Amino acid sequence: MLLTISTTARPASDLGFLLHKHPDRVQEFGQSSGKATVFYPEAGEERCTAALLLEVDPVTLARSRGKGSPDFSLSQYVNDRPYAASSLLAVALADVFRTARAGRCAARPELAATALPLEIRLPALPCRGGPDLARRLFEPLGWEVSAEAVPLDEGFPEWGDSRYVTLTLTGTVRLADALNHLYVLLPVLDDAKHYWIAPDEVDKLVRAGEGWLGAHPERTLITRRYLGRRWTLARAALTRLAELGDETEEALEPAIPEEPSPTTPAAEPEDAATELEDSPAEPDDAATEPADAATEREDAPAAPRSLSGKRREAVLRTLEELGATSVIDLGCGQGELVGALLARPRFARVGGMDVSPMALTIAARKLKLERMPAAKRERLTLFQGALTYTDKRLTGYDGAVLMEVIEHVDPPRLAALERVVFGHARPRHVLVTTPNIEYNVRYEFLTGLRHPDHRFEWTRAEFAAWASEVAARHGYTVALSPVGEDDPEVGPPTQMGVFTRDQRS
Ligand code: SAH
Repeated sequence: MLLTISTTARPASDLGFLLHKHPDRVQEFGQSSGKATVFYPEAGEERCTAALLLEVDPVTLARSRGKGSPDFSLSQYVNDRPYAASSLLAVALADVFRTARAGRCAARPELAATALPLEIRLPALPCRGGPDLARRLFEPLGWEVSAEAVPLDEGFPEWGDSRYVTLTLTGTVRLADALNHLYVLLPVLDDAKHYWIAPDEVDKLVRAGEGWLGAHPERTLITRRYLGRRWTLARAALTRLAELGDETEEALEPAIPEEPSPTTPAAEPEDAATELEDSPAEPDDAATEPADAATEREDAPAAPRSLSGKRREAVLRTLEELGATSVIDLGCGQGELVGALLARPRFARVGGMDVSPMALTIAARKLKLERMPAAKRERLTLFQGALTYTDKRLTGYDGAVLMEVIEHVDPPRLAALERVVFGHARPRHVLVTTPNIEYNVRYEFLTGLRHPDHRFEWTRAEFAAWASEVAARHGYTVALSPVGEDDPEVGPPTQMGVFTRDQRS
């Protein structure tokens, strides 16, 4: 497979600095799939072209996989190896141009940060969905796309087109962004059947997609194809892209339609079936629910399946048991809990506060604030604020909830949050939930923390220690309770502290 990258930004040969590959040299890089060669067919002042050639060796490729890999079988030797060539090219590109893809260039930092006139050519790219899909994927990213189907056999035009296209992308784009676009979208266009998805693929996708994938109109298709159509992983990735606040509000919409949308090529039936069954333990924060689930749950008998649903139920039940009638949700996010509180008339006053204006905009829309009947609307106060600054608007509630919020705060700022909530606002009850890091081993595909924005996750002992110190410092007692399945070995996925202010203080 061949990929060329050209620029006309003068002096064009500076492309060599950006790619960290000298224009005068031909360099080879061993890959687990074969051999990658980088060379420059031209390197002048006016125009410079770098080429990456990947020669795939099925035997090398097969040897690089252990016997533990599910696709260890004869079929790896006897196959149409180019079927996966796009993923392999993407992997080679990520490896050979690692520093460039990260946007780093000590010699020409300003150039690495600048959008440059680029032309990228792939003479034969497997593309399921044809030239049209190539346009749908690259045009929203600012590329002018020329994609032409390669005929199956020029001698027999009646045979029609092959699944390969000749792709040329032209645009003024930062080189690092261009490389990340290719890294994610080449395998997506290929859409070869993946037999094996490395556990950290979600992380890789979220990182490579930073700044562009969250807002891409085809992000659902991209994410699903990239992750080999695994729904659970795709959902985790889309949720994470959304929670990262990646660019637009639109990205925060519930991401996975139940049915393939009309513009999305239908999933192959056998894939769809296995994907739904192929449901590993869900990382926390991965569970999305229909927007209005919370508000309509009041008399729903079924217990919530998702962890976020269980958390919400646990918080609501506890608030009811404690007899709270006014509650503020601190770090209310998109307002699911606020909606559930409003749906219960016993909560006469409901507050929702978040530091993120975007989250609040979404919350207002999901709660249908505009159309909310006056009686309900009057019970609600939704506002922007930061938990690390004292704020009069936080006072006067029976209960405050910090649901999955403290782990988003930098540890040195936790003392400020503690003062604001327990020292200043001082509601009778404070409910704090946070992940139990010990439980993370139960999430098959999780590497690292449960969410890229988490600053920490605590063990049960760490949370217990923090909770009892906070309680002691501010005249509260605290009871800890598990949320979700309480695993005999590693405890529950979520831990909850229920703080109650001492009568005398
Ligand atoms: N409580 C919600 C959202 C959890 S995500 C739920 O359980 O679904 C964490 C939320 O905390 C985000 O919406 C984030 O914007 C908010 N947050 C993080 N730091 C904050 C701070 N210092 N002040 C207020 N909100 C904060």
